[in-house]
Amino acid sequence: MSDDYKEIDDNKNDSSNVNNTNNSNNSNDDRGRYEKICVICRRTESQCKGPMIDLYNNITVCNDCMQRTFDSLNNMPMNNDLFNGFGMNMFNPNMENVPKKNKLKKKKEEEKKEFPEITLKSLPAPHKIKGMLDEYVIGQDYAKKVMSVAVYNHYKRVATNTQKEIEIEKSNMLMIGPTGSGKTYLVKTLARILQVPLAITDATSLTEAGYIGDDIESVLSKLLMAADNDVEKAERGIVFIDEIDKIAKKKEVRSRDVSGESVQQGLLKLLEGSEVEVPVGATSKNAMVPMVTMDTSNILFICGGAFPDLPEIIKNRLTKSSSIGFNADLKDKYDDDENILSHVTTEDLREYGMIPEFLGRLPIVYTLEKLNKEALIKILKEPKNAILAQYQKLLALDEVELKFSDDALEAIANKAIEKNTGARALRSIIEDFMLDIMYEIPKDSNIGTVTITKEYIEDKKAPLIQMRGQGLLEAKA
Ligand code: ADP
Repeated sequence: MSDDYKEIDDNKNDSSNVNNTNNSNNSNDDRGRYEKICVICRRTESQCKGPMIDLYNNITVCNDCMQRTFDSLNNMPMNNDLFNGFGMNMFNPNMENVPKKNKLKKKKEEEKKEFPEITLKSLPAPHKIKGMLDEYVIGQDYAKKVMSVAVYNHYKRVATNTQKEIEIEKSNMLMIGPTGSGKTYLVKTLARILQVPLAITDATSLTEAGYIGDDIESVLSKLLMAADNDVEKAERGIVFIDEIDKIAKKKEVRSRDVSGESVQQGLLKLLEGSEVEVPVGATSKNAMVPMVTMDTSNILFICGGAFPDLPEIIKNRLTKSSSIGFNADLKDKYDDDENILSHVTTEDLREYGMIPEFLGRLPIVYTLEKLNKEALIKILKEPKNAILAQYQKLLALDEVELKFSDDALEAIANKAIEKNTGARALRSIIEDFMLDIMYEIPKDSNIGTVTITKEYIEDKKAPLIQMRGQGLLEAKA
């Protein structure tokens, strides 16, 4: 049965409702006793002043609407979509009487992600990419610069298809930075700027094929999913593998290292660019899962990790190399160096347990700084989608102005530093104290302004409340 008929079947239910309103008994015998109604313009037979046209399944259309249908069909290119919903959308922009199924279908089509083709012209220059990153990501200037250049070079290579002529090395990256310093956020923002599909996976879930866990190729399955199963688009996407430090080679291995060194080995062929069989819509290969072949040469791989013991390794190397003679460093010279990670070398990463072949396929290595108090305060208020702005917007919908005093922001940043999870802590701290505000404020429609103070953050005292047209009050705690 063609789609057109299916759609008409859907209309059957609706149109029978239409007729039901006029026709309490739906039997064919009764029909003649009631006036017919045009399903498009909703006029009755007497209002239309002319014969009505009976269509399939009790659908009646007036002469005028039928004429308009034909006129429009004549003026439009033939297109199957036109017949969806019996062509009603054309005449019924409010979508009344159109079966629900049709509405859902339409929305889905609109929401479909679009990843336009990247050309040399459409590719933003590195300083523009960095400028756009600056709007969302605070600090991390060095990382942003390195990423902008690497991504620009990578997509230039993809857009001009030059990799076959000259072997330009792939710009896969290794990003090292403490938790909550913005590793994932940087990659997400970058993919959004470039409008390319992005898959984020966790290296800890990967195991060598045949063991419990996700196969290494599942990384690509996720990318394929992000690209709406369009292989060509997925082949230009970005894969971010987080927690890469967790697949370091184990120091003492008595059994097969299926989730460490073997995963690094398995990732090699993806990173360097090769044709890989990828399970579609599943995380491991088996006979029941359809497979597709993907070429990974144009996929940009970014690996990220916190590498918790790496500072120790770097410190040891730095102090060892200068421990003899008059210039010898004191052993604790680097103890207070917050950004010791920035001295990292491939040697240190090898010592950490990353295999040389793996490191060789990640030519761009850079570090992110630990976010300090000033950066955390900026993160609260400056980015385009800053957390504070989000709450301000929410309360503004209730016509309440939300303010934060400067020392309150400082108090929030201090609390976040105590938690030692970088900017990640900010949201949970704010959500904690905003709960009461979001609960209490809508109770009283006279409240005009709420000011969050340091005392409110630190001692859970009351925030400052200003009623509409009145002075400041201190709310009851
Ligand atoms: P990780 O480095 O552990 O991957 P994330 O990127 O997941 O950290 O950061 C967690 C959240 O903190 C992000 O969603 C983002 O909102 C915020 N954030 C982290 N770093 C920054 C930054 N430099 N600028 C703005 N927001 C940031």
